[in-house]
Amino acid sequence: MSSSSTHERTRTGMSKTALKQDFLDNLFYIQGRFREVATPHDLYMAAAFTTRDRLLKRWVNSAQVFKTSHARTVCYLSAEYLLGPHLACNLVNLGITDTARQAGAELGLNFDAIVEEEEEPGLGNGGLGRLAACFMESLSTCQVPAIGYGIRYEFGIFDQAIEDGWQVEKTDNWLRNGNPWEIPRPKICFPVGYGGHTESYRDEHGQMRLRWQPAFMINGMAYDTPILGYGTENVNLLRLWKAEASESFNFQAFNTGDYYGAVYSKIEAETISKVLYPNDEPEIGKELRLKQQYFFVSCSMQDMIRLHLNTVGPLESFAEKFVVQLNDTHPALAVVELMRLLLDDHGLNWEQAWDITRHTFCYTNHTLLPEALETWSVALFERLLPRHLDLIYEINRRFLDEVRMRFLGDEARVWRMSLIAEGGERRVRMANLAVVGSQAVNGVAELHSALVKATLFKDFAELWPERFHNVTNGVTPRRFMVVANPRLSRLITQTCGHDAWIRDLERLRELETHQDDAGLHADWRAVKLAAKQDLATWMQQATGIHLDPASLFDVQAKRFHEYKRQHLNILHIIRCYQRIKQGESQNLVPRAFIFGGKAAPGYFMAKLMIKLINAVAEVVNNDPQVNGWMRVAFLPNFNVKNGQRLYPAADLSEQISLAGKEASGTGNMKFSMNGALTIGTLDGANVEIREAVGAENFFLFGLTAEAALQQQLTGYRPWEYYQSDIELKSDIDLINSGLFSHGDTQLFRPLTDNLVNHDPFMVLADYRAYLECQQTVSAAYQDPERWTRMSLLNVARIGRFSSDRAIREYAEHIWKVTPNPIEAA
Ligand SMILES: *Cc1c(COP(=O)(O)O)cnc(C)c1O
Repeated sequence: MSSSSTHERTRTGMSKTALKQDFLDNLFYIQGRFREVATPHDLYMAAAFTTRDRLLKRWVNSAQVFKTSHARTVCYLSAEYLLGPHLACNLVNLGITDTARQAGAELGLNFDAIVEEEEEPGLGNGGLGRLAACFMESLSTCQVPAIGYGIRYEFGIFDQAIEDGWQVEKTDNWLRNGNPWEIPRPKICFPVGYGGHTESYRDEHGQMRLRWQPAFMINGMAYDTPILGYGTENVNLLRLWKAEASESFNFQAFNTGDYYGAVYSKIEAETISKVLYPNDEPEIGKELRLKQQYFFVSCSMQDMIRLHLNTVGPLESFAEKFVVQLNDTHPALAVVELMRLLLDDHGLNWEQAWDITRHTFCYTNHTLLPEALETWSVALFERLLPRHLDLIYEINRRFLDEVRMRFLGDEARVWRMSLIAEGGERRVRMANLAVVGSQAVNGVAELHSALVKATLFKDFAELWPERFHNVTNGVTPRRFMVVANPRLSRLITQTCGHDAWIRDLERLRELETHQDDAGLHADWRAVKLAAKQDLATWMQQATGIHLDPASLFDVQAKRFHEYKRQHLNILHIIRCYQRIKQGESQNLVPRAFIFGGKAAPGYFMAKLMIKLINAVAEVVNNDPQVNGWMRVAFLPNFNVKNGQRLYPAADLSEQISLAGKEASGTGNMKFSMNGALTIGTLDGANVEIREAVGAENFFLFGLTAEAALQQQLTGYRPWEYYQSDIELKSDIDLINSGLFSHGDTQLFRPLTDNLVNHDPFMVLADYRAYLECQQTVSAAYQDPERWTRMSLLNVARIGRFSSDRAIREYAEHIWKVTPNPIEAA
């Protein structure tokens, strides 16, 4: 055998010997280290490169096949990807976790410590970015050819530290030590313009045309990360754009002797992909944010056109080759950018260009909260993207004519549906743009999709009922079960006698036949207890707080927001505290109340909720009278990696948003997959989770969306609840007494005053029902057999909430794509 083929096997072989050899080679040739002097980071890098070598082979193979087969390709456009650590998931998807662990052991390495070394790319805020990451993994697993497009932020979501009980934000310098998963593509680079003006000119055929003369240009350069599916050879591509100064501009500045100007323009250009905006909810009209959106959308659309011209050819068939999914409205400018490219750069006429554009895009709505709907001022648009504003006006003019024809004389409707909000400062409505420019619009859970049609897009649903769909979200079981919870995964595989459930999650239902198996119950409890022990160990070290693994782990982990109602949870904790202090502990079970989550840096109320949790924790955890009954702990820096510690250890999952406010939620699915029971409202996907697992295996409380809305319309008076419920009053008064704030009676006033006087998310209205429901939780937990059975049935019936199912629904109903399996090369 020739030496080159031996080398080939070393880099791509799946045997323990090949892995060991390649690991040592990578340690030496890439990190420049011997085993003896390697740092933990060197070892991680060598492991990552060894894994990447195996991915690259599959990737090149997939790319070749897709290119020659002209496969219809899904392009997922998302401003955020909350990826989580890559190494462990890639090993699982390659099917070599055990081999790698053994290879490590034979080299004298601690496999778990190497995995733990990885710092995650935090290129997203929360649910929306995590959804994009789950979808990328499931697209590959389901063998759908896809490209994910986004921004390679130099600084992702901030790291959260807790100081004196307050959230403190630290910059996330995730690229500091290098990123072994990405491959820079300096030749895949596109110019992006900003500012300037439009002008008309006569083209070579004598036609009058318009063109945009931007005031300045930057470049977007591609960085590619391969995304492997589970148990398949298919690898898709995540292509993230980094902003760079355009060389021609630098060159010009040099010629005019403006050296510092040239350097400055480079810095200014690079700020565009510098930092992720940390607000996932209230929309802030920041110019840089609009620049970011246009930047990645323009690069992505130019890249698709390049790919199309290189493979298929004529742009008339663009919408047959590509379907573009808009993850919320952040990439909605893509609609206008494709129009501009087709009209101005490729010479198509309006009807051709609009026909292609309309058939290319699909849009997912993620929120109904009015404060979270994106609008941009027309003045800002005019200054930054004058050509796009012209195109929006023309799209709008034609669209509103259509509305007027359909609904004669209904000018109020025309106003509501316009892409431009009039009255006051004129603004571009990105959601309306996304709907008008898409062939399909979907919500992310049944309730949410119904509300989308009934409220936010009522007029649009009347005009185009066939465009509206529902695709309930899902999460990938590879990361959130196999990687996060190896003990449970092993037990499931053992019980079912196969591991086919990992790719076909509905097969978890086979667990139902074992629902009364006492041996399995004991094993099930042992698995949960071990996960709780792991979390307790980690928490002790991270926060100094001791958690008793025998207590009920009651967990709420998600972004901090008033609509998610962490303060409802705190009121229950304070109630438990008071009951124990008053000697009424008979119906309680010992509980550990665990929180995790970040607050947007400018969201005062959310930050105050974090402070309140830590303030209550300080009192509760230091009071020996209540200590045996309850602990309160805040897990700092909730991210994907820390989430993976939390989900397996939870007994109870808190999903307590006001009904009608959470679009879907995906944390709810992750908890349930790991055997936690849910206490929740009829909101988002909770509704469907409850239907799936059975009402008797779900702790339901609270107003329905309809009742909540009704009460808001007829006048909601929170102070009446405060006055009439003495326990509620006493809990709120205790906060105001200064007990939790070293005598400061004012600290939490903004929060308590808001609850008593405004309470926009109806915490007080749901308080009593929540307390009562928590009592049924405690009672159920006191019956371990019953609890275990409920936990087991939650896992057995959660299969629907795999992101594989969501992707198959998109593929069939929205994208019209079929799987394209890749054969091993
Ligand atoms: C799943 C996930 C979320 C979303 O949680 P919800 O409870 O659905 O809001 C947010 N952040 C991280 C890190 C996640 O993994």
